[in-house]
Amino acid sequence: MKTATKPPETVRLTPGKRVLFLTKDPELIKRQLAGELDLTMDDLTVDDLLDDINTDAMTPAWVCFSHRPEDIARDAYAGLIVDGERLFSRDALRDGSFEVIVSGYRKGVGSSRETAVQAEKWSGIRIAVAASFAPIHAGNNVNQGVLMADHDMLRRLQAGEGVPLEAFCRGYDPISKLIIRQGGLFPFAKALEAGEVELPPHGTGPRPMTMGEKLLARHLRGVPEGERYVKPGDAVVVDVDGGYSHEFTTAQVHYFLEEEYGSGYEIQDPAKFAVFEDHLIYADDVPKMRGFIGKIDTLRDLQRELQRHTGVQDFSAQDRVSPGICHEVAREKLIEPGDFIQATDSHTCMGGVNNALAWGVGATEYANLLHSGFTQVEVPESIRFELVGELKEGVTAKDVMLYILLEYAKPQKTLNRVMELTGPGLRSLSMDERATLTNMATECSARTAIVEADEETFRWLAEWRPGADVERLRGRAVAPDPDAEYAGGSYVIDLSSIRPMVAHPGDPDRGIPSDPTNGAFVDELGEVEIEIAYGGSCTAGKIDDLVFYHRVVKEAVDAGLKVHPGVRFLIQFGSEAVERYCRERGLVAAFEEAGVDLIQPGCGACIGCGPGVSETPDQVTVSAINRNYKGRSGPGRLYLASPLTVAASAFTGKITAYKPGMFARAPEPAIA
Ligand code: SF4
Repeated sequence: MKTATKPPETVRLTPGKRVLFLTKDPELIKRQLAGELDLTMDDLTVDDLLDDINTDAMTPAWVCFSHRPEDIARDAYAGLIVDGERLFSRDALRDGSFEVIVSGYRKGVGSSRETAVQAEKWSGIRIAVAASFAPIHAGNNVNQGVLMADHDMLRRLQAGEGVPLEAFCRGYDPISKLIIRQGGLFPFAKALEAGEVELPPHGTGPRPMTMGEKLLARHLRGVPEGERYVKPGDAVVVDVDGGYSHEFTTAQVHYFLEEEYGSGYEIQDPAKFAVFEDHLIYADDVPKMRGFIGKIDTLRDLQRELQRHTGVQDFSAQDRVSPGICHEVAREKLIEPGDFIQATDSHTCMGGVNNALAWGVGATEYANLLHSGFTQVEVPESIRFELVGELKEGVTAKDVMLYILLEYAKPQKTLNRVMELTGPGLRSLSMDERATLTNMATECSARTAIVEADEETFRWLAEWRPGADVERLRGRAVAPDPDAEYAGGSYVIDLSSIRPMVAHPGDPDRGIPSDPTNGAFVDELGEVEIEIAYGGSCTAGKIDDLVFYHRVVKEAVDAGLKVHPGVRFLIQFGSEAVERYCRERGLVAAFEEAGVDLIQPGCGACIGCGPGVSETPDQVTVSAINRNYKGRSGPGRLYLASPLTVAASAFTGKITAYKPGMFARAPEPAIA
């Protein structure tokens, strides 16, 4: 980044600059922002500081409609709301002359948005202090050249001591250390190109590997064929096969590339990359978004500019109709077994269903890999799930994922690991259902998920890609070695034991966050009335999801029912191919007869930018999407559930698990 400077070997606080403590007591924050109060670490304990600061609070979606980091910084922390008001007014962070910002545990949880770090950095912050950082947020700090420290280091700095730069690198892999020392990812990449930094030698010898390890090993840059082995913790440079961005993120990628490499910048391999117009396609129809239409149009224009400039594959909307959600279209058309894919969205992990390694990255990392064709990775650990048995009627992969979130993600077993999915139970699931599992790896805070390929994988790929060389695809697939090591453990899940589940919205005002790991069984939930039922998104807008909705809707319509009068039921196709399938097979008639709002391909509900978002805090939604973080899909309370549960609830008006035959018309009494 042009503004990046190499940090000094000894880091000190700058005279005249201030330290901002994000305290649990909002009054203390207000007084610091007003310039009435300056605190030191000796005035507070770590318990006094805010924990779990969400990236959505640092930069809510509407702030990200600006693509220039200096504009984003003006609304830093706009999502920190107390008593209905912004704690940080416009420019408050920037105008406070702060260079250090201090919080408690798990800073930067939630979505992977890099803008959260940009908002701080372009407000003048050069050191972020916390008891711990969410892994993706920490990576974004490294890439942006923002130093991270703990509270003891802050105490030393505030006492006037100089702290060696090495202390800020502690705990990071060797390549991240090099990036920190260079002041961020762009200066590191340039120094690497100029031969000014040397990568650590690669020294891992032959060993059994998991699928994720095998894939990374295969992509090692500059390592001879017979020596390609990795183990967790290795810092490696790997070639990237392909990737994509959407109109919410592309503008910033274009801006960064122009800033760093000039307006004539070049990228490595346009044919393997793509842009999508899908996330903001319906923003114009959301009342709260109308004030941002000008900015959204700029994002759309800049995406088109990048596409024209680079020649990457173009999935722009035609006549305001999107070809589909990027993750759905990418698995249909782009991602091959054995690929290493990077894209600017946290649900990129969905591509793992095609036996690829795929995860989301920030705009800086994406711009850098577009330009160079490679990226740097610390090899993650793996956790293995062997699925056995078969799902009961009325239970879907979404219920399996809500179970995994509760049982494995909540206790952090999946944290930052590659979830390897395999077993005979998995093979009983369709590709669409498997994709539900890989899609929500990011809600598990996993690095990604990858499915072991089988005959169904290649059959599905051949069906979606007529003329594809299946033998070539088969040759690219990876399988785990029998004695591979799983640091996260190896678990067997019996699909026949899974019951319909929801993730409840918690009670954020009483300290229970809205979180996809809040699993609960539908039959133990009690009566929960709903106003909105939403079926769609990258998680639940696939063909099989539409077939699930249809199964319930058809049964209800045949029994003479319509959608419950107090409920709005929206179904959104994941891609134009999904819509075509539904129209050609006559699924749409039942939806229309029942009174479902059918929406053309695209997304946006999960970032508050599309149909299906709540408008008041008392509205309750049951949704087949992937995340229920407070405020993300409107101010209401959101329950995550399976497509079957969403559809059944739309007719009963309360959260209800679907049981086959539940709406079937009772037989007419026999006339004597
Ligand atoms: S649900 Fe929609 S908005 Fe959310 S990540 Fe998926 S595609 Fe993007």
